[in-house]
Order: sequence, then C-alpha cells, then structure tokens
Amino acid sequence: MNPTEEKEARETIKKIVLLNALRYDGKAEHKPVFGKLLGEYPQFRQQIKEITPIINDVIQEINALTLEQQRAIVEEKWPEALVEEKTEETKHLPPLPNAEKYERVVTRFSPNPDFVLHLGSARAIILSHDYAKIYKGIFILRFEDTDSKTKKPKMEFYDAIREDLEWLGCRWDSEFIQSDRLPIYYEYAEELIKAGNAYVCTCVREVFQEKTRKGQSCPCRILSVEENLVRWSRML
Ligand SMILES: [Zn+2]
Repeated sequence: MNPTEEKEARETIKKIVLLNALRYDGKAEHKPVFGKLLGEYPQFRQQIKEITPIINDVIQEINALTLEQQRAIVEEKWPEALVEEKTEETKHLPPLPNAEKYERVVTRFSPNPDFVLHLGSARAIILSHDYAKIYKGIFILRFEDTDSKTKKPKMEFYDAIREDLEWLGCRWDSEFIQSDRLPIYYEYAEELIKAGNAYVCTCVREVFQEKTRKGQSCPCRILSVEENLVRWSRML
C-alpha cells in the first residue's frame, strides 16, 4: 500500500469505526468493523495484514473520544451515513432453546492441535463465543490432544489456534489441555467401571464393529466389575 492508498484506507476505516462506535455506546469493536470493511470493500481482502494495524489504531483513536465528539465527526463528514444507519436492520442470533432452565451457559471450542484451523471452524468459534457472551456464560477453549498416534499434536499449533481465536475477537474465559488432565479422566473411568457403567473391551476391532452393526453386545460386556478392573489396571 502506498501512502495515498493508506490514507484512503484509513479514512474508509474511520467511517466504519465511527458508525460502529455510535451504535455501541461509543466503543467500537474490532470484529464487526473488520467484517463490515471486508463485506463492503472486498478489495481489502488482499491486504488484511496491512489493514489490521490501521483498524486497531483507528479504533483506539475513536474509542478515546466521547460519544458527542464521535457523532459530530460523522455529522460533519458523512451525514448520509447516519440516515442509512437508522434504516439498516439489526440481526441477532436466535435464542438458545431451554437456556433459561440452566444455571449458566457453558460453550466450548475443542480443536485437536494437530494442524492449523479450517476456515469452517470460524463458525463454531464465533457461535460458541457469542452465545456464551449473550447469556453471560463461559466460553472454554479445550485442546483435545490425547490421540498422539493418529492425530499427533504439535506445539506450534496450540499457539496458532490461540492466535486465530484472538484474531476473530473471540477471547476464551478458560482453557484446558486434555493431555495434562489424564489422571482426572482415569479416575472417572475407574469410577464408571466400579459402578458397572463401563467395561474394557479387548475384542479385535473388526469383530467388535461387526457386532455393533448387528446390534449385538460383545462378550466383554458381561464380565464382572472385578475382571474389568483387572483389565483396566493392565491398560495403565
Ligand atoms: Zn469386547
């Protein structure tokens, strides 16, 4: 971007940031500004790296102003935008069914850190984050990294995923790394076995799958709790 282009981009961003700030009590937010900018001016999609710092910069500048100051700038520079803003319909997420029956809403995004995120993950991330926010609940980021054989986790992808969530403006309230919590899961697995609610199957995979297809249980299911505990202890 040359200086003239950058100046123009800054002006365009300023307009969007100001309108966003006016709508949200004087505080513009990165995510809607970013979405609106790319939606209305697709040419910026090629320049995301360059425009991101400009957006942050402008947001900081505009959010430091009072609501009156913000409105005065828009009235002076883009009075037509104020009229447009009023007629634009606002879209909201539909309410979650039965949410009121629960004490609090907890949502989670649980990637396997064996690769970078797929674009489609953005939908799950934003919905989980926004619903938690709407219901003043908790949004959890949980790394499902316990399958080190077929989905080998890599250190670099934990951070890449965190970075993507930050970039989407979806800050998580709490984070869990499952591989750090295996002792807890083992404890609960043992409790389930002791209560007769789980069993250890040692069938060959194909045999087990064949049984499942036929809707039959495998022979391991009728073994005693004691036998299952022995099998379990051999697995650890
Ligand atoms: Zn079995």
